[in-house]
Amino acid sequence: MSTASEYIESVLEGLKVRNPGELEFQEAVVGVLDSLAPVLEQHPEYQEAAILERIVEPERAVHFRVPWVDDEGKTHVNRGYRFQFNSALGPYKGGLRFHPTVSASIVKFLGFEQIFKNALTGQQIGGGKGGADFDPHGRSDQEIMRFCQSFMTGLFRHIGHFTDIPAGDIGVGGREIGYLFGQYKKLANGFEAGVLTGKGLDWGGSLIRTEATGYGLVAFTREMLKTRGEDFEGQTVSVSGSGNVAIYSIEKLQQLGAKPVTISDSSGWVYDADGIDLELLKDIKEVKRGRVADYVAARPNAELHTDGSIWSVPVDVALPCATQHELNGEDARTLIKNGVKAVGEGANMPTDAEGVEVFEASDVLYGPGKAANAGGVAVSALEMQQNSARQSWTREDVAQRLDDIMVNIHAQCVDASERYAGNSSDYVTGSNAAGFVKVADAMLAQGVL
Ligand code: GLU
Repeated sequence: MSTASEYIESVLEGLKVRNPGELEFQEAVVGVLDSLAPVLEQHPEYQEAAILERIVEPERAVHFRVPWVDDEGKTHVNRGYRFQFNSALGPYKGGLRFHPTVSASIVKFLGFEQIFKNALTGQQIGGGKGGADFDPHGRSDQEIMRFCQSFMTGLFRHIGHFTDIPAGDIGVGGREIGYLFGQYKKLANGFEAGVLTGKGLDWGGSLIRTEATGYGLVAFTREMLKTRGEDFEGQTVSVSGSGNVAIYSIEKLQQLGAKPVTISDSSGWVYDADGIDLELLKDIKEVKRGRVADYVAARPNAELHTDGSIWSVPVDVALPCATQHELNGEDARTLIKNGVKAVGEGANMPTDAEGVEVFEASDVLYGPGKAANAGGVAVSALEMQQNSARQSWTREDVAQRLDDIMVNIHAQCVDASERYAGNSSDYVTGSNAAGFVKVADAMLAQGVL
């Protein structure tokens, strides 16, 4: 048998041949497999059962045409995807992303990451992801509705509450989940509440689902800071993005006495030295669907930047909550030079491969997305539990369960970091190893599938 490192190398070579040009997917797989040599050394049975070869191959991929008609009567065609990556721990679970950058490579990287993230939640959910290369920006409600209906017409036969449970991601929020659910209900001829999560509160949604990723991110980062005897009180924090992950991270940060000072979107990034005005941000983004430039118009002391990097602002903690590859090696070096203590990823793969290396070589507490942003999907799983029991839990109940899950994920990372990296603060190795071992053991138990 080859050594663990040789085995990993040969799987990565095969991956590149079988998935040519899919750079994001390749990067995500390298990011996980690079952590696994010590795990495979302790578990030769994984290599014997070809767990790596199997885990990098989606169990099923659906790729479908999404035709729709705009308000002027013009027909458009988008491409819809659902990658059902791994069902060893439960039904496929993961969001849908509607964004012009969506491609097979992007959905596969997200689906692959989702396997390990979902494993860390301990909620018995497998990994999947989907989306479309549709740009919702500037589209009317009617256009969004027609797009969602067409998307669900292509997807509905492949999902179900025991099979695959989609949810939101970038470009898919409460409005889109409503239209998607309505079309599913019509096509399936049944009110199958547990088939989608992120639903409205009166028709099967869970309290705290909207806030969950942001609240969970702050809880995970709080746990990292605690290992160094610190907390959020009085800390200055940069947050990127201005969607629900950023908004509810900012809300929780303010509750804990921290001062978030930045936000961003594709129109630029904002520095508000007085601290972000949360009510104003919510009004612009959640009510008016506006841009961060509108924030600056209403807050004369805030600065709008259309060049330079949001990560050049000196802060104690940085929370990238926008999208993949928004923080590169140079940004990581700048943050470290300016004294950052912790980085928690609210987005999926926001730090590029060089940035991760820079953080790993430093003593910054670096919490990768698959652990730090797992609160969203964790509360999705709590929504599924409430749907199965036909119950609606209280806000306090869901918030407490979410916090417990994030504390537990942090503890699993520390434990696996000690076991496989020989120190307690390698959250990259910790999150990859802890998630992988659960999935690999379930795959072994269930046979060659
Ligand atoms: N899209 C979110 C994520 O990246 C949430 C998925 C879900 O709730 O299923 O984990």
